Amino acid sequence: MDIAARPDRAIADLRALADLTGGPGGARRLCWTSEWENARGFLRERLSELPVTVDVDEAGNLWARLEGGRAETVVIGSHIDSVPNGGWLDGALGVLGALEVLRSIAEAGTPPCTVTLIDFADEEGARFGRSLFGSSWLSGSIKADDVRDLRDAAGDRLADVVAAYGVDLDRAGAAASRLADVRAYLELHIEQGPVLETAGLAVGTVLGTVGVERHRVVFRGQAAHSGSTPMPSRRDSFLAAARFALAVRDGAVRHQGVATIGAAECTPGVATVVPGVTTVLLDQRHLDAAELAAMLAEAKAAGAEAADAEKCTVEFERIWQIDPIPFDPDLIAAARSACRAVSGSDHALPSGPLHDAAEMARTIPTVMIFSSSTNGISHAKEEDTPIEHLELAIRAYAQTVGHAIDRVGRGQSR
Ligand SMILES: [Zn+2]
Repeated sequence: MDIAARPDRAIADLRALADLTGGPGGARRLCWTSEWENARGFLRERLSELPVTVDVDEAGNLWARLEGGRAETVVIGSHIDSVPNGGWLDGALGVLGALEVLRSIAEAGTPPCTVTLIDFADEEGARFGRSLFGSSWLSGSIKADDVRDLRDAAGDRLADVVAAYGVDLDRAGAAASRLADVRAYLELHIEQGPVLETAGLAVGTVLGTVGVERHRVVFRGQAAHSGSTPMPSRRDSFLAAARFALAVRDGAVRHQGVATIGAAECTPGVATVVPGVTTVLLDQRHLDAAELAAMLAEAKAAGAEAADAEKCTVEFERIWQIDPIPFDPDLIAAARSACRAVSGSDHALPSGPLHDAAEMARTIPTVMIFSSSTNGISHAKEEDTPIEHLELAIRAYAQTVGHAIDRVGRGQSR
């Protein structure tokens, strides 16, 4: 179906939300606070003008259901919560863009299938450190005991704080039953990185969220006096780590992934001692599981080679790992053709950051559309996107949602 979305109305809503919950320090919509409730109150007020049923599930996610010709459902949305001192677009663009799409669909009559807006609870995890809270309950990738005793900076317990907002952790898993009729999920978001802007593009289709391999890598040599130890006699663990860092960078470039050594620590860490032990943290990401595995295997080989060259040893310890989560091929194709139709480019890219869409994609055909991010900045008050890019992104999103509704309205799940 053709959805006659009006991006100007979505942008007016975004500005109104920024006026209500923003300020000189940036957005103030930290989840499980009165400011988050204010933002939700704003959303509920807008939704009250539409023929939708609004309620909150057991995990704290807000749903607004527009009944269609069939019970099978297309879900659209994002998260209205923000990090402290966040930007005006992260999450809000997806919720208020989806609101505009829902409004336009309702204005045109009854859609062929049900269309539901979702505002996920606590996407950011800014207060308790557990991101994707609401969507993880829907996908089943979270357990009450994993999060019950998490505490915020003030020492308050997660279980107690969410209870004040009607979430009983022992019942939150029941929210997953809401996905029974859901056949597609589509999310609009800012890129939060520089790729689209650097390519001179307004919008892009997201292929999926990248997989991550994170390791602690320890190089061991021999601590020795910086003055008395001749260069050929040294077993300098830092030099091994330095060789390793360059090899890891080259591997990421070769495989078109990304790799970062975000921390390096020499022991004992003084100028007068050749470092006996150097520990680095390696983070590798790729959209393709096989490529990611190859990047890791090559990093291990490069680590051994670097250690050897400096007469050191090396050990890898895995800290964290997540598989890549690819999005739905048909929805990706639809989003690319929508982006081409509105902007002339069908560029597609992986998402480095995780999103609620990654949780949804575990069980539901999913796609995301990104708008550009000015200077690639997000999670900061400087976060911005040119208005024309926001408008194009909302139009491409509406067109892709129209495709999903057609597909689900015909009774096809893929
Ligand atoms: Zn976000």
